[in-house]
Amino acid sequence: MASRQFCVGGNWKMNGDQKSIAEICKVLSGAALDPSTQVVIGCPAIYLMQVRNLLPCSIGVAGQNSYKVSKGAFTGEISPAMLKDVGVEWVILGHSERRAIFNESDELIAEKAEHALAEGLKVIACIGESLQEREAGKTNDVVERQMAAYANKIKDWTNVVVAYEPVWAIGTGKTATPDQAQEVHAHLRKWLAEKISPQVSASLRIQYGGSVTGANAKELAKKPDIDGFLVGGASLKPEFVDIINARQ
Ligand code: PEP
Repeated sequence: MASRQFCVGGNWKMNGDQKSIAEICKVLSGAALDPSTQVVIGCPAIYLMQVRNLLPCSIGVAGQNSYKVSKGAFTGEISPAMLKDVGVEWVILGHSERRAIFNESDELIAEKAEHALAEGLKVIACIGESLQEREAGKTNDVVERQMAAYANKIKDWTNVVVAYEPVWAIGTGKTATPDQAQEVHAHLRKWLAEKISPQVSASLRIQYGGSVTGANAKELAKKPDIDGFLVGGASLKPEFVDIINARQ
């Protein structure tokens, strides 16, 4: 098996204020984090500079969204160039909340990913099926469709991490079992080998996301095709450190 660096992302979503964010940064800065795990914190745009200044450079910082062009008349949007300008290295794109609440299409998300990569950001590219889709037996079709949209625009996958996040597991406390997650991750790797290349299939990191906690991270992390996590709720709590250290 190719050795892929374990990568854990925290997605704070639209949570926190200057005070609570300073406290979380203090915990993370002082914690004994597994040095072999790559850690990335996705924080609200308005706090990105604060977080970048408070965290050590060994911890990456991510925007939770960025637009598909570098500047212009796009009120309310931020660009990859702006993220880079304030020292941010990553962006999370295609989160299910962006897809469902803000009606972002596969195509728009792929265009955003293409532009972010061209501007030199690393991208956490999210995918995942809804409960209805899973129950209809469409999980593989949905993740293949979402991956194909990315693949239409992404030619170099070096700076991409895929986050498989079943929508029914996000923020619900209903984690996919390690076997359920592994099954989809293995399917994604097979799809990548067939549609992109065996090299990309072996080297691309695939995170699992959906109600990961300090309690369930270790079992999930034992699965061969799970290369880390994207964590919402638990990334705001001290147990995030246990998730980062899940492979220890
Ligand atoms: C997420 O928002 O990406 C997520 C996985 O949330 P939670 O961990 O709270 O389910």
